[in-house]
Amino acid sequence: MSSGLSAASAAELARAAFRRLAALRLPPTPQNYSRVWAELEHAGLAQAPGEPAAPGAPQASAVAEDAAAAPWRQLWEQAVQLALQPPAAAPALRQRAAQLLAAAHAPQATAQLQAVLAGNRQLWQDWRRLRAEEQLAVDRMLELFAAIVGHLDQVFGGEAGGAAEFVELRQAGARPLDAARIEAARSLIEPWLRRQAALQRGALDARSTSREVVGQVLRSLDSFLGENRAFTTSLQGDLHRLQGGLEGEQLAQLAQALLRRGTELHRSSEDFATRLEQAQQQAEQALQRIQSLESELQAASRQLLEDPLTGALNRRGLDAAFARDSAQAAQATRSFSVALLDLDHFKRVNDSYGHDFGDEALRGLVQVARKLVRPGDSIARMGGEEFMVLFPDSDAVSAQRAVERLLQGFRNRRMLVRNTGQRVELSFSAGVAEFQPGEDFSCLYRRADTALRQAKEGGRQRVCVAPAQQALADVAGDA
Ligand code: GH3
Ligand code: MG
Ligand code: MG
Repeated sequence: MSSGLSAASAAELARAAFRRLAALRLPPTPQNYSRVWAELEHAGLAQAPGEPAAPGAPQASAVAEDAAAAPWRQLWEQAVQLALQPPAAAPALRQRAAQLLAAAHAPQATAQLQAVLAGNRQLWQDWRRLRAEEQLAVDRMLELFAAIVGHLDQVFGGEAGGAAEFVELRQAGARPLDAARIEAARSLIEPWLRRQAALQRGALDARSTSREVVGQVLRSLDSFLGENRAFTTSLQGDLHRLQGGLEGEQLAQLAQALLRRGTELHRSSEDFATRLEQAQQQAEQALQRIQSLESELQAASRQLLEDPLTGALNRRGLDAAFARDSAQAAQATRSFSVALLDLDHFKRVNDSYGHDFGDEALRGLVQVARKLVRPGDSIARMGGEEFMVLFPDSDAVSAQRAVERLLQGFRNRRMLVRNTGQRVELSFSAGVAEFQPGEDFSCLYRRADTALRQAKEGGRQRVCVAPAQQALADVAGDA
């Protein structure tokens, strides 16, 4: 086989390509090598060796050139074969590579050299596109990873939202990837997940799959990054040797070694791709299971905070709402009021129309309240026929007005007695108290209750407001 490559220009070009890799601090993987080659080619450096030999060139010199170019041709062939190993390359691409290699060995190769070079360029372009698609798959995996984290967040509820571990984990998924950060996030999140799993045994199964998937993705990313790091480190040593000035055989040996390592890296990225694919499948299954569990979990957590008869908050729900609203009021120095509601003559109502009707009346009061108070207000059942409404951002006067509107709405509702078809007007009495800074729940409750008793004593169906000064006296009295 004859070749248009001259010994000097081939060695020069290879050296230029490796120097360029060194300057760009790129590992000599096939795609980097082809990129640098393409750059040099574009700059005109590679054009000269690509020219067909002039007709009538001396045969002996062509044989000498052929012998000198052989190691470089071999390297090129290895690079083509390496790049086109599965699963990186599509079958069509491998087939074209085989044709290209055959064309380079054909008896008329010199005449076809331009066509071979063009085919080579096109092959590398397609190969780069394929690698870009692989990168896209890795990016999707990272997105999926972020989605898993977001989902765990929802499943585990508010506690996870601001948890430092989750912030770390989210940052670990951000680009550029950093092995140390991913490892740090993993070691942070694992004990946290264990603790969560211990706390919430109900949905243990799906969550443990999520944990596995998160762990698997983290480990895969970590080992992938670790391999890359080791490769880059050994590369740096080679590049130093290269800069020291290598000639002929030495240079060819170094290039061989670099390509060998390129093969190893290629294999490890194949492993990585396989691991990611497996993790992705598991993650998809886990997400499905989590989604179905999510609605169950939501229902379960609602039950924890809700009164089953009326759907209002129960005592636990009230405690949480009060803690939130009073903290906000204290922080933002905003007003915050509560109203204690008690149905009037409810014993008599039960006695006259039956216990079921009484239950219906309790539900009716909550329904009316839901319609008439603002979305940020909370309604809780204290027990029996006593309710508390929390009015954040409201002083006593505006809370009183809101409760009066509610009283009017409840009376207008006129509850239906099913077995007789009769309509009954029901009412409640209420005591309003505005939250005083430093006041705890029981103190605020007592003041609202005193106002409620006043409303009862004053004839029921009315709203009384607790004086603000009394709070300070109570606080002082308690101390
Ligand atoms: P007042 O106007 O002074 O508040 O009179 P009242 O009859 O409402 O007061 P009291 O506290 O004596 O009676 C409360 C009644 O509420 C007694 C109980 O039978 C009834 N009750 C408590 N919980 C429920 C419930 O879940 N369902 C029904 N139907 N009735 C309940
Ligand atoms: Mg009562
Ligand atoms: Mg009552």
